[in-house]
Amino acid sequence: MKAVFVAVAMVALVAGATVQIPRHVSLVVTGGIVITQDERHTVLSPGAVAIDGPEIVAVDRPDAIAANYRADETISAPNQIVLPGLVNTHTHAPMVLYRGLADDLALMEWLQKYIFPAEARTVSPEFVRVGTRLAALEMIESGTTTYADMYYFEEEIAQATRAAGLRGVLGETVIQFPSPDAKTPGEAVARAERFIASFKNDDLITPAVAPHAMYTNDRATLLACSELARRARVPILIHLAETEDEVRQSREQHQMTPAAYLDSIGFWSPRTLAAHGVWVTPDDMAILKRHAVGVSHNPESNMKLASGAAPVVQYLAAGIPLGLGTDGAASNNDLDMFEAMRQASFLAKHTTHDPTAVPARTALDMATIGGAKALAMDRSIGSVEPGKRADLIAVSTASARQTPMYDPVSQLVYVTRGDDVRTTIVNGKVLMKERQLRTLDREAVIADANRLAQKIRTLRF
Ligand SMILES: [Zn+2]
Repeated sequence: MKAVFVAVAMVALVAGATVQIPRHVSLVVTGGIVITQDERHTVLSPGAVAIDGPEIVAVDRPDAIAANYRADETISAPNQIVLPGLVNTHTHAPMVLYRGLADDLALMEWLQKYIFPAEARTVSPEFVRVGTRLAALEMIESGTTTYADMYYFEEEIAQATRAAGLRGVLGETVIQFPSPDAKTPGEAVARAERFIASFKNDDLITPAVAPHAMYTNDRATLLACSELARRARVPILIHLAETEDEVRQSREQHQMTPAAYLDSIGFWSPRTLAAHGVWVTPDDMAILKRHAVGVSHNPESNMKLASGAAPVVQYLAAGIPLGLGTDGAASNNDLDMFEAMRQASFLAKHTTHDPTAVPARTALDMATIGGAKALAMDRSIGSVEPGKRADLIAVSTASARQTPMYDPVSQLVYVTRGDDVRTTIVNGKVLMKERQLRTLDREAVIADANRLAQKIRTLRF
């Protein structure tokens, strides 16, 4: 008996000694209120996050992290809220260069009279490169760590995104008419296939195919896109039922709603993200649910173009994965996801006459774990949890506008602006620390954008 007792005591001693040797990690963020967005909505106040390489290894109280980890770099975040990086599920990054070019118009007129002609005359690899760098700068500075994109020359967007250190689900656009990077839809699909092959298995980039919409592609093109996605095992991004007019046209041409038409041709698959979904019927929602399609809600763009208000409360009740998006900056006119959260909450309350619709926590869920689910990436991003990729941000709560603070989640949704973000980390790499950028030369990015804007300024519509 005595020998057994001694042996047990020795094991305990050895175990105790092991615990006391701190593990060496690359980064610790400590001292802020940590809003984890895990399943139980755990908040640590204060908390700390230990990160090694691209991965979160521990989330705990600051004293526990200090005792167990030694980091190459420590970011101290008192008076800050630490949360998962925001997930922008729908944008067209280079369109930041068209910010404010054509305002106060309805979608079809805006697209056909201004945006498509401007794109035909100005979109080039250089335009896309310069625009993506500007968008990446804005996203890093306002706390977005992952974004879904639909545009042209997507390989340029992927390279600029990777160089900036952001995570992207990037879809090469396929559209029926001649576009800036393909003369025919067949050429566009072939382009998408080459793009997917060259960025498959990248740490930061998930390549995708992006048929623009059901009303801008014929059946054969839509099916070529979904077949490519299935074959290459990549996501599909598409605009869906954005305006009442789109649904009316679809009913005239196909005697079906856009969602039902896409279902009838066998287009839907689980890795599809449908942007907008404003004008959907309960039957459409059942179709989206059956195929596990994610939806991106874009309240600011929908309001600005007077497209309508998506039935967000019904989407949530149906358990359809719902993320938030800014849409391109030409219809918003910025990429600030904090504003998107606030407007998503206000728009839902306004349209339902119910102030309890989309409360702060739901808006924050949509911008983080909800977006991750809509993109089928919730196993790796969307919350601050051990084992997930280290995509997180820290927001200052020290300003007059942020004082006092009773509820940090309320503060994030109803008070915070992108400018309050102090630190942005993606895949364990610090892209911005206390507003100091590490991957982009701020002045050069803005100067390049202004140089290209000179050419855009000369366009006549
Ligand atoms: Zn869009």
